[in-house]
Amino acid sequence: MKVLMLAAEAAPLVKVGGLGDVVGGISAELRALGHDVRIALPHYGFISAAGESQSVLSVRWGRAKVKSSCIETAIEGTPCLLIGGRPIAPGESVYAQTAAIDIRRFVFFALAALHHVQALGFQPDVVHVHDAHPGAAVHWLQQAASTEPFWRRTARVLTIHNMVYQYNEAAEALALGGLKPASDNRVPTWARAGLLALAIRAADRINAVSPTYAKEIVAQEHGAGLHALLLARAGRLSGILNGIDYQCWDAATDSALARNFTAETLPAREANKRALQQETVLPVGPAPLLGMVSRLDHQKGLDLLARALPAVLREGKAALVVLGSGDGNIQAALQQLAADFPERVLLNFRFDEGFARRIYGGADMMLVPSRYEPCGLVQMIALRYGAVPLVRATGGLRDTVTDCDVDPASGTGFVFDAFTPRALRAALRRALTRFEDRSFWRGMQRRGMALDFSWAAAGRRYQALYRKAIEDRSARGTD
Ligand code: ADP
Repeated sequence: MKVLMLAAEAAPLVKVGGLGDVVGGISAELRALGHDVRIALPHYGFISAAGESQSVLSVRWGRAKVKSSCIETAIEGTPCLLIGGRPIAPGESVYAQTAAIDIRRFVFFALAALHHVQALGFQPDVVHVHDAHPGAAVHWLQQAASTEPFWRRTARVLTIHNMVYQYNEAAEALALGGLKPASDNRVPTWARAGLLALAIRAADRINAVSPTYAKEIVAQEHGAGLHALLLARAGRLSGILNGIDYQCWDAATDSALARNFTAETLPAREANKRALQQETVLPVGPAPLLGMVSRLDHQKGLDLLARALPAVLREGKAALVVLGSGDGNIQAALQQLAADFPERVLLNFRFDEGFARRIYGGADMMLVPSRYEPCGLVQMIALRYGAVPLVRATGGLRDTVTDCDVDPASGTGFVFDAFTPRALRAALRRALTRFEDRSFWRGMQRRGMALDFSWAAAGRRYQALYRKAIEDRSARGTD
């Protein structure tokens, strides 16, 4: 199959969060399965990647025609088209400070990318759009299906990584691209010019990044106002769990670790814990070491942690290391915790992949107390590195971690339900008690390390989803 991926991020070239990892990962896996995959990204100002110019053309943008360039580079072997043009050019970061700038940039990118691949003669069987950013492409393709023979058979697939970012005020940018907002009643009035809503409305297949998230977003709590639209399209909605790159995340070869280890050589892992304790100037010794690697965002539940933890830290000898960057208010809440427990809490507010790896490889537990979590990569990496995850039962966290008190024979971590300090505290206390039983803990680490969250399973599922989308398209013809 010929597949065009449209996204705002694709790792390792462009990565802000999990979205980048997923677009890079799934593209590589689909290529390994024999598909002809191209990724298209906006040519952000900070990308200096040298590449070959493929085409230069004019894109209709209001009354003007705007020049757009297309340079080909590669992301881990997958051809990547960098789409340039005036509305994209000024940005030095992936996401601008205002939604209005982003909307203009991403609408232009989505439409220009389609023009470029057509000019290059790459006729995709599937255009796979990730999240709201390139959502205008799905809307445009729906109309092009009846007017442009080149696009008549192209199936439209949308993956939802996060419902919260919707880009709802896009009428002006859509008009610049010659597009109108939706007019049907299934879409709430406030979202009719929304890039995510338009993509949900016109996609042949929609998938969320975990089976539980696919169920959650058709209900009010997690649907971010679009639950009724999603429910109306429930027959087209499924969930495919993300994978992680098993070569990139491998404790047996990870050069960031003081000592490499496998499930068979788990005692060697202790050297990483010691090194992490020394690096963070936390007390060196057998006391449980909790870790957290996270964007500092409301979604991630760090406020809950800051409220739940003091009682637990007062009772025992556990220590906590946090690596995260983002929201200043969340930093302040954590700083209070560190001020109250200076010898037991170490904070690091930066983005540092090497340090993240040393936390995964050395902490006894990784905490992920999210309000919502579409899939979550942190708990999957933690399981692979023998750090026992403690997570809230939401989205992909629920799909990937089995509570060891609910199911002692196959448990891989600790899961709590209610988003309350009390529920998190109870889970932490259970974890600290279980930690005392070294052989039980080892068994849990080994079971977690034996799980398979590589891209192989997700790749097969996406392949099947594409086939369904292509069938849908040929059955429906023009919309
Ligand atoms: P999200 O995409 O919502 O941020 P995920 O769990 O899906 O959350 O993915 C987060 C990814 O980013 C993981 O690979 C995690 O290790 C990494 N990460 C998050 N914060 C940092 C940080 N401060 N430094 C290094 N890596 C980080």
